[in-house]
Amino acid sequence: MTSEPVFESAACTFCGSGDAQPLFEGPDRLLYLPGEFRVVRCAHCGLLRQDPRPTPETIAFYYPPEYEPYSVAIDEEPSRLRRWDRRYGMRKRQRAIERRCPGGRLLDVGCATGNFLYEMARTGHWQVEGVEPNAKAAAYGREHLGLTIHADELTNVELPAAAYDVITMWNVLEHLHAPVENLQAAARLLKPGGWFIFSIPNLASWERRLLGKYWMGWELPRHLLYPSAGQMGTQLRKMGLVMVDWECLVGAYPSFLLSLRFWLESTAGRTRWTQAFLVLSGSLPVRLLNAPAFALLTRLNRASLITGFARAEGR
Ligand SMILES: [Zn+2]
Repeated sequence: MTSEPVFESAACTFCGSGDAQPLFEGPDRLLYLPGEFRVVRCAHCGLLRQDPRPTPETIAFYYPPEYEPYSVAIDEEPSRLRRWDRRYGMRKRQRAIERRCPGGRLLDVGCATGNFLYEMARTGHWQVEGVEPNAKAAAYGREHLGLTIHADELTNVELPAAAYDVITMWNVLEHLHAPVENLQAAARLLKPGGWFIFSIPNLASWERRLLGKYWMGWELPRHLLYPSAGQMGTQLRKMGLVMVDWECLVGAYPSFLLSLRFWLESTAGRTRWTQAFLVLSGSLPVRLLNAPAFALLTRLNRASLITGFARAEGR
């Protein structure tokens, strides 16, 4: 599982071109795992991607157990603020979905431990199901939350075609070695008129402009591609999905804190002072003080994470 990582060079996953210009290099700023990684821009279609990248067989090296998305159930979260925060994030997602589709059958791809599915099932509006290749995370969701989770890649799971009202992919696409195949699989499973809802790092975010290579959205080496809104629209169109709109939902402030940490740690070092500053920046009073600015950033769709809403063509 956690053997030494091996790297491969791959052509652009969107257009197949092997021509690319290097953009910048950087380390694993989140977990400090060894290596130096590179982001390139496809000379043909402009897609940004990591190249070379860890192979599918060895990338588990960069997903240790402490990787945050494999988190415990919200009710078991020790910090009250974090508990409130996580539940608020779930409510925002739920409202954004139900404004477009009031209920039905929902599949979450890359559901990790299944917290989102659990919260959606609790509303009584949704019949939920998940797909998660990490066997441990999937087992947690099944055992602790009583969910149906298929422990595999979406492209390997046998699911009924044209059966789902909503398919979600929260911060998953950028982690995939075969994003196009996964998008095709999702498109096949959607009912005509069903919604494909996904979030990705927002290349148009102000934080990326401001902090450049320290931006949290790069998350090397776990992020393998960085599509723009326009590039996503073009890809989805080929699969019979029409981009309807984009919305920044949640996470503007926590992602800013991450970018701030990456910038501070590489300019000032991982000192006690920088740690203290980051703890202070994450405290409730400072957060409240900054809330209006980040609410505006979210409203303008310029926060670090953005959610796309696409619809399967009705037949
Ligand atoms: Zn390309």
